[in-house]
Amino acid sequence: GQVEKKAEGKVQKQICRVVLDHFEKQYTAELGDAWSRVRDVLTSPWCWQHALLLNRFSPSPGLESSLAEQGYHPAFPAALPYLPAAFRCYSRTAPGRFPAQKHQPGRLKGYYLLNAASLLPVLALEVQDGEHVLDLCAAPGGKSVAILQCACPGHFHCNEYDDLRSRWLEQTIESFIPDPLINLITVSKLDGRQIGDLQPEFYDKVLVDAPCSNDRSWLFSADPQQAALRLMQRKELSSLQFQLLRSAVKALRRGGSLVYSTCTLSRAENSDVINLLLSSCSNVMPVDISGMARGVSQEFTFLSGTQQHELLVLPEKGRAWGPMYVAKLKKVS
Ligand code: SAM
Repeated sequence: GQVEKKAEGKVQKQICRVVLDHFEKQYTAELGDAWSRVRDVLTSPWCWQHALLLNRFSPSPGLESSLAEQGYHPAFPAALPYLPAAFRCYSRTAPGRFPAQKHQPGRLKGYYLLNAASLLPVLALEVQDGEHVLDLCAAPGGKSVAILQCACPGHFHCNEYDDLRSRWLEQTIESFIPDPLINLITVSKLDGRQIGDLQPEFYDKVLVDAPCSNDRSWLFSADPQQAALRLMQRKELSSLQFQLLRSAVKALRRGGSLVYSTCTLSRAENSDVINLLLSSCSNVMPVDISGMARGVSQEFTFLSGTQQHELLVLPEKGRAWGPMYVAKLKKVS
Protein backbone atom coordinates (compact mmCIF):
# COMPACT_ATOMS: atom_id res chain seq x y z
CA GLY A 1 0.00 0.00 0.00
CA GLN A 2 0.95 3.55 -0.59
CA VAL A 3 1.06 5.97 2.32
CA GLU A 4 -1.09 9.01 1.68
CA LYS A 5 0.10 12.19 3.32
CA LYS A 6 -1.78 15.28 4.28
CA ALA A 7 -0.39 18.66 3.25
CA GLU A 8 1.05 19.25 6.70
CA GLY A 9 2.71 15.85 6.69
CA LYS A 10 0.48 13.82 8.98
CA VAL A 11 0.31 10.14 7.99
CA GLN A 12 -3.18 9.19 6.82
CA LYS A 13 -4.93 5.87 6.23
CA GLN A 14 -3.31 3.67 3.59
CA ILE A 15 -4.87 3.02 0.25
CA CYS A 16 -5.28 -0.66 -0.55
CA ARG A 17 -3.64 -1.25 -3.93
CA VAL A 18 -5.58 -4.38 -4.94
CA VAL A 19 -8.86 -2.60 -4.40
CA LEU A 20 -7.77 0.54 -6.23
CA ASP A 21 -6.51 -1.50 -9.22
CA HIS A 22 -9.77 -3.45 -9.36
CA PHE A 23 -11.90 -0.28 -9.19
CA GLU A 24 -9.68 1.42 -11.74
CA LYS A 25 -10.46 -1.25 -14.35
CA GLN A 26 -14.13 -1.67 -13.58
CA TYR A 27 -15.09 1.97 -13.07
CA THR A 28 -13.10 3.31 -16.02
CA ALA A 29 -15.17 0.93 -18.15
CA GLU A 30 -18.45 1.84 -16.42
CA LEU A 31 -18.09 5.57 -15.76
CA GLY A 32 -15.52 6.76 -18.30
CA ASP A 33 -13.93 10.13 -17.52
CA ALA A 34 -16.05 10.68 -14.43
CA TRP A 35 -14.13 7.93 -12.61
CA SER A 36 -10.84 9.83 -12.39
CA ARG A 37 -12.57 12.75 -10.62
CA VAL A 38 -14.37 10.36 -8.29
CA ARG A 39 -11.13 8.51 -7.63
CA ASP A 40 -9.38 11.74 -6.63
CA VAL A 41 -12.00 12.36 -3.95
CA LEU A 42 -12.26 8.79 -2.70
CA THR A 43 -8.50 8.48 -2.29
CA SER A 44 -8.16 11.84 -0.47
CA PRO A 45 -9.85 11.34 2.91
CA TRP A 46 -8.82 14.85 3.98
CA CYS A 47 -11.31 16.17 1.39
CA TRP A 48 -14.20 14.14 2.78
CA GLN A 49 -17.13 16.05 4.17
CA HIS A 50 -19.91 15.19 6.53
CA ALA A 51 -23.34 16.56 7.24
CA LEU A 52 -25.37 16.92 10.42
CA LEU A 53 -28.97 15.76 10.53
CA LEU A 54 -30.61 17.57 13.44
CA ASN A 55 -32.87 15.60 15.74
CA ARG A 56 -36.28 17.24 15.79
CA PHE A 57 -37.02 15.44 19.07
CA SER A 58 -34.10 17.07 20.89
CA PRO A 59 -33.65 20.65 19.74
CA SER A 60 -30.31 22.00 20.99
CA PRO A 61 -30.48 25.73 21.70
CA GLY A 62 -27.74 27.60 19.89
CA LEU A 63 -26.70 24.64 17.73
CA GLU A 64 -27.93 26.14 14.46
CA SER A 65 -26.27 29.51 15.06
CA SER A 66 -23.04 27.80 16.08
CA LEU A 67 -23.17 25.74 12.87
CA ALA A 68 -23.69 28.89 10.83
CA GLU A 69 -20.67 30.48 12.53
CA GLN A 70 -18.59 27.47 11.50
CA GLY A 71 -19.57 27.78 7.85
CA TYR A 72 -22.38 25.22 7.74
CA HIS A 73 -25.41 25.85 5.55
CA PRO A 74 -28.70 23.97 5.03
CA ALA A 75 -27.85 21.08 2.70
CA PHE A 76 -31.27 20.94 1.04
CA PRO A 77 -33.24 23.86 -0.38
CA ALA A 78 -36.21 24.63 1.89
CA ALA A 79 -38.72 24.72 -0.96
CA LEU A 80 -38.57 21.05 -1.96
CA PRO A 81 -42.11 19.62 -1.92
CA TYR A 82 -41.07 16.30 -0.35
CA LEU A 83 -39.00 17.96 2.35
CA PRO A 84 -40.86 18.26 5.68
CA ALA A 85 -40.38 21.50 7.63
CA ALA A 86 -38.91 19.62 10.58
CA PHE A 87 -36.15 18.13 8.44
CA ARG A 88 -32.93 20.03 9.11
CA CYS A 89 -29.63 18.99 7.62
CA TYR A 90 -26.47 21.10 7.57
CA SER A 91 -23.30 20.69 5.57
CA ARG A 92 -20.28 22.73 4.67
CA THR A 93 -17.85 22.70 1.80
CA ALA A 94 -14.78 22.78 4.02
CA PRO A 95 -13.70 19.38 5.31
CA GLY A 96 -13.25 18.71 9.01
CA ARG A 97 -15.38 16.91 11.52
CA PHE A 98 -17.99 18.23 13.90
CA PRO A 99 -17.62 16.30 17.20
CA ALA A 100 -19.79 13.19 17.52
CA GLN A 101 -22.00 12.97 20.60
CA LYS A 102 -21.38 10.09 23.02
CA HIS A 103 -24.18 7.67 23.84
CA GLN A 104 -25.61 8.47 27.25
CA PRO A 105 -28.46 6.22 28.40
CA GLY A 106 -31.65 8.21 28.92
CA ARG A 107 -30.40 11.20 26.93
CA LEU A 108 -31.43 12.08 23.41
CA LYS A 109 -28.78 13.19 20.96
CA GLY A 110 -29.15 16.48 19.10
CA TYR A 111 -27.73 15.41 15.72
CA TYR A 112 -26.54 12.48 13.59
CA LEU A 113 -23.35 12.79 11.51
CA LEU A 114 -23.63 11.34 8.03
CA ASN A 115 -22.80 11.45 4.36
CA ALA A 116 -25.49 13.82 3.02
CA ALA A 117 -26.17 11.44 0.10
CA SER A 118 -27.54 8.92 2.62
CA LEU A 119 -30.57 11.15 2.96
CA LEU A 120 -31.56 10.81 -0.70
CA PRO A 121 -33.03 7.28 -0.36
CA VAL A 122 -35.02 8.50 2.64
CA LEU A 123 -36.37 11.54 0.77
CA ALA A 124 -37.18 9.35 -2.25
CA LEU A 125 -39.24 7.06 -0.01
CA GLU A 126 -41.64 9.97 0.80
CA VAL A 127 -42.99 8.43 3.99
CA GLN A 128 -46.34 9.90 5.08
CA ASP A 129 -47.76 10.02 8.60
CA GLY A 130 -49.56 6.82 9.54
CA GLU A 131 -47.94 4.57 6.94
CA HIS A 132 -46.58 1.10 7.65
CA VAL A 133 -42.86 1.29 6.99
CA LEU A 134 -40.14 -1.37 6.85
CA ASP A 135 -36.41 -0.62 6.95
CA LEU A 136 -35.15 -4.02 5.82
CA CYS A 137 -31.39 -3.58 6.45
CA ALA A 138 -31.36 -0.94 9.13
CA ALA A 139 -28.15 -0.95 11.23
CA PRO A 140 -26.58 1.28 12.41
CA GLY A 141 -29.83 3.20 11.96
CA GLY A 142 -28.94 6.45 10.22
CA LYS A 143 -31.73 6.13 7.69
CA SER A 144 -34.22 4.91 10.30
CA VAL A 145 -33.55 8.07 12.30
CA ALA A 146 -33.87 10.17 9.14
CA ILE A 147 -37.22 8.56 8.25
CA LEU A 148 -38.52 9.58 11.66
CA GLN A 149 -37.40 13.16 11.06
CA CYS A 150 -39.65 13.22 7.98
CA ALA A 151 -42.87 11.67 9.23
CA CYS A 152 -44.56 9.72 11.98
CA PRO A 153 -45.31 6.24 10.59
CA GLY A 154 -48.26 4.27 11.98
CA HIS A 155 -45.86 1.40 12.45
CA PHE A 156 -42.13 1.29 11.81
CA HIS A 157 -40.30 -2.03 11.53
CA CYS A 158 -36.49 -1.78 11.60
CA ASN A 159 -34.71 -5.02 10.77
CA GLU A 160 -31.05 -6.01 10.96
CA TYR A 161 -29.75 -9.56 10.51
CA ASP A 162 -26.40 -9.18 12.24
CA ASP A 163 -26.55 -9.59 16.01
CA LEU A 164 -23.99 -6.99 17.00
CA ARG A 165 -25.17 -4.46 14.48
CA SER A 166 -28.73 -4.99 15.60
CA ARG A 167 -27.73 -3.92 19.12
CA TRP A 168 -26.09 -0.88 17.59
CA LEU A 169 -29.36 -0.14 15.80
CA GLU A 170 -31.30 -0.36 19.06
CA GLN A 171 -28.87 2.03 20.68
CA THR A 172 -29.23 4.53 17.83
CA ILE A 173 -33.02 4.43 18.09
CA GLU A 174 -32.86 4.92 21.87
CA SER A 175 -30.50 7.86 21.41
CA PHE A 176 -32.72 9.71 18.95
CA ILE A 177 -36.35 8.77 19.47
CA PRO A 178 -38.37 9.80 22.54
CA ASP A 179 -40.70 7.64 24.55
CA PRO A 180 -44.17 7.74 23.06
CA LEU A 181 -42.87 7.49 19.49
CA ILE A 182 -40.45 4.68 20.26
CA ASN A 183 -43.45 2.42 20.92
CA LEU A 184 -44.34 2.53 17.22
CA ILE A 185 -41.00 0.95 16.38
CA THR A 186 -40.29 -2.77 16.23
CA VAL A 187 -36.70 -3.93 15.94
CA SER A 188 -36.13 -7.44 14.59
CA LYS A 189 -33.09 -9.59 13.80
CA LEU A 190 -34.42 -11.50 10.81
CA ASP A 191 -32.87 -12.46 7.52
CA GLY A 192 -34.45 -9.76 5.37
CA ARG A 193 -34.95 -12.34 2.62
CA GLN A 194 -37.66 -13.97 4.75
CA ILE A 195 -39.70 -10.94 5.75
CA GLY A 196 -41.72 -10.96 2.51
CA ASP A 197 -43.04 -14.42 3.34
CA LEU A 198 -43.52 -13.60 7.02
CA GLN A 199 -45.44 -10.35 6.42
CA PRO A 200 -46.78 -10.39 2.86
CA GLU A 201 -48.68 -7.37 1.48
CA PHE A 202 -48.28 -5.46 4.73
CA TYR A 203 -46.20 -2.35 4.13
CA ASP A 204 -46.83 0.96 2.37
CA LYS A 205 -43.11 1.71 2.11
CA VAL A 206 -39.99 -0.45 2.24
CA LEU A 207 -36.41 0.76 2.28
CA VAL A 208 -33.80 -1.73 1.05
CA ASP A 209 -30.49 -0.10 1.97
CA ALA A 210 -28.67 -3.21 0.90
CA PRO A 211 -25.41 -4.79 2.03
CA CYS A 212 -23.02 -3.85 -0.79
CA SER A 213 -19.38 -3.25 -1.68
CA ASN A 214 -18.57 -0.17 0.34
CA ASP A 215 -16.27 1.55 -2.16
CA ARG A 216 -15.16 4.29 0.21
CA SER A 217 -14.11 2.00 3.04
CA TRP A 218 -12.85 -0.89 0.87
CA LEU A 219 -10.27 1.46 -0.64
CA PHE A 220 -8.71 1.72 2.82
CA SER A 221 -8.84 -1.97 3.77
CA ALA A 222 -6.02 -2.62 6.22
CA ASP A 223 -5.63 -6.27 5.19
CA PRO A 224 -4.89 -6.74 1.44
CA GLN A 225 -5.64 -10.48 1.58
CA GLN A 226 -9.02 -9.92 3.11
CA ALA A 227 -9.65 -7.18 0.54
CA ALA A 228 -8.78 -9.54 -2.34
CA LEU A 229 -11.17 -12.14 -0.92
CA ARG A 230 -13.94 -9.57 -0.65
CA LEU A 231 -13.38 -8.56 -4.26
CA MET A 232 -13.68 -12.19 -5.32
CA GLN A 233 -16.89 -12.68 -3.34
CA ARG A 234 -18.32 -9.45 -4.64
CA LYS A 235 -20.43 -11.20 -7.28
CA GLU A 236 -22.46 -12.94 -4.60
CA LEU A 237 -23.69 -9.60 -3.31
CA SER A 238 -25.83 -9.04 -6.41
CA SER A 239 -27.75 -12.22 -5.76
CA LEU A 240 -28.28 -11.32 -2.07
CA GLN A 241 -29.46 -7.86 -3.13
CA PHE A 242 -31.87 -9.36 -5.64
CA GLN A 243 -33.32 -11.71 -3.02
CA LEU A 244 -33.73 -8.86 -0.54
CA LEU A 245 -35.59 -6.91 -3.20
CA ARG A 246 -37.87 -9.87 -3.99
CA SER A 247 -38.69 -10.10 -0.32
CA ALA A 248 -39.36 -6.35 -0.14
CA VAL A 249 -41.77 -6.59 -3.09
CA LYS A 250 -43.66 -9.40 -1.35
CA ALA A 251 -43.84 -7.35 1.86
CA LEU A 252 -45.39 -4.39 0.01
CA ARG A 253 -49.12 -3.96 -0.28
CA ARG A 254 -50.48 -3.18 -3.74
CA GLY A 255 -49.75 0.49 -4.51
CA GLY A 256 -46.87 0.56 -2.05
CA SER A 257 -43.39 1.58 -3.06
CA LEU A 258 -39.82 0.67 -2.28
CA VAL A 259 -36.50 2.43 -2.46
CA TYR A 260 -33.31 0.50 -3.09
CA SER A 261 -29.94 2.03 -2.23
CA THR A 262 -26.27 1.10 -2.08
CA CYS A 263 -23.05 2.99 -1.42
CA THR A 264 -21.14 1.48 -4.35
CA LEU A 265 -20.60 2.68 -7.91
CA SER A 266 -20.73 -0.89 -9.19
CA ARG A 267 -23.29 -1.39 -11.92
CA ALA A 268 -23.63 -5.08 -11.04
CA GLU A 269 -25.04 -4.09 -7.63
CA ASN A 270 -27.07 -1.13 -8.88
CA SER A 271 -28.86 -0.89 -12.25
CA ASP A 272 -28.27 -4.56 -13.09
CA VAL A 273 -30.07 -5.73 -9.95
CA ILE A 274 -32.96 -3.31 -10.51
CA ASN A 275 -33.26 -4.23 -14.18
CA LEU A 276 -33.36 -7.91 -13.31
CA LEU A 277 -36.14 -7.26 -10.82
CA LEU A 278 -38.12 -5.17 -13.31
CA SER A 279 -37.81 -7.85 -15.96
CA SER A 280 -38.73 -10.70 -13.62
CA CYS A 281 -41.63 -9.13 -11.63
CA SER A 282 -44.50 -7.98 -13.84
CA ASN A 283 -46.19 -6.29 -10.86
CA VAL A 284 -43.30 -3.87 -10.28
CA MET A 285 -42.94 -0.54 -12.12
CA PRO A 286 -40.25 2.13 -12.05
CA VAL A 287 -41.06 5.44 -10.31
CA ASP A 288 -39.63 8.69 -11.70
CA ILE A 289 -37.29 10.37 -9.18
CA SER A 290 -35.68 12.78 -11.64
CA GLY A 291 -37.64 15.70 -10.14
CA MET A 292 -36.08 15.05 -6.76
CA ALA A 293 -32.64 14.79 -8.34
CA ARG A 294 -33.12 18.16 -10.05
CA GLY A 295 -34.33 19.70 -6.79
CA VAL A 296 -31.11 18.78 -4.95
CA SER A 297 -28.67 19.26 -7.82
CA GLN A 298 -27.07 22.27 -6.07
CA GLU A 299 -25.58 19.98 -3.43
CA PHE A 300 -25.00 16.72 -5.35
CA THR A 301 -23.33 15.61 -8.56
CA PHE A 302 -25.14 12.82 -10.39
CA LEU A 303 -23.96 10.48 -13.10
CA SER A 304 -25.62 11.64 -16.30
CA GLY A 305 -27.52 9.31 -18.60
CA THR A 306 -29.15 7.18 -15.89
CA GLN A 307 -32.84 6.28 -16.18
CA GLN A 308 -35.59 8.33 -14.50
CA HIS A 309 -36.21 5.87 -11.69
CA GLU A 310 -32.57 5.89 -10.54
CA LEU A 311 -29.68 8.15 -9.65
CA LEU A 312 -26.03 7.71 -8.80
CA VAL A 313 -24.30 10.33 -6.65
CA LEU A 314 -20.69 10.86 -7.69
CA PRO A 315 -18.34 12.37 -5.08
CA GLU A 316 -16.71 15.56 -6.27
CA LYS A 317 -14.33 18.07 -4.65
CA GLY A 318 -16.37 20.39 -2.43
CA ARG A 319 -19.40 18.08 -2.81
CA ALA A 320 -17.74 14.91 -1.65
CA TRP A 321 -21.04 13.05 -1.07
CA GLY A 322 -21.67 9.48 -2.15
CA PRO A 323 -21.11 7.11 -3.81
CA MET A 324 -24.82 6.46 -3.44
CA TYR A 325 -27.15 4.69 -5.83
CA VAL A 326 -30.91 5.16 -5.37
CA ALA A 327 -33.77 3.55 -7.29
CA LYS A 328 -37.52 3.73 -6.65
CA LEU A 329 -40.12 1.14 -7.65
CA LYS A 330 -43.83 0.64 -7.13
CA LYS A 331 -45.90 -2.52 -6.69
CA VAL A 332 -48.85 -2.13 -9.00
CA SER A 333 -50.75 -5.39 -8.47
N1 SAM B 1 -29.48 1.51 6.58
C1 SAM B 1 -28.30 1.58 7.43
C2 SAM B 1 -28.07 3.01 7.87
O1 SAM B 1 -28.47 3.93 7.14
O2 SAM B 1 -27.51 3.22 8.94
C3 SAM B 1 -27.09 0.96 6.76
C4 SAM B 1 -27.33 -0.46 6.27
S1 SAM B 1 -25.91 -1.29 5.66
C5 SAM B 1 -25.67 -0.56 4.12
C6 SAM B 1 -26.55 -2.87 5.26
C7 SAM B 1 -26.91 -3.73 6.46
O3 SAM B 1 -27.55 -4.92 6.00
C8 SAM B 1 -25.72 -4.18 7.29
O4 SAM B 1 -25.87 -3.74 8.61
C9 SAM B 1 -25.78 -5.71 7.23
O5 SAM B 1 -25.42 -6.33 8.45
C10 SAM B 1 -27.24 -5.94 6.93
N2 SAM B 1 -27.57 -7.24 6.29
C11 SAM B 1 -26.74 -8.08 5.62
N3 SAM B 1 -27.43 -9.16 5.20
C12 SAM B 1 -28.71 -8.99 5.61
C13 SAM B 1 -29.90 -9.78 5.47
N4 SAM B 1 -29.89 -10.94 4.84
N5 SAM B 1 -31.04 -9.30 6.03
C14 SAM B 1 -31.04 -8.12 6.67
N6 SAM B 1 -29.95 -7.34 6.83
C15 SAM B 1 -28.81 -7.77 6.29
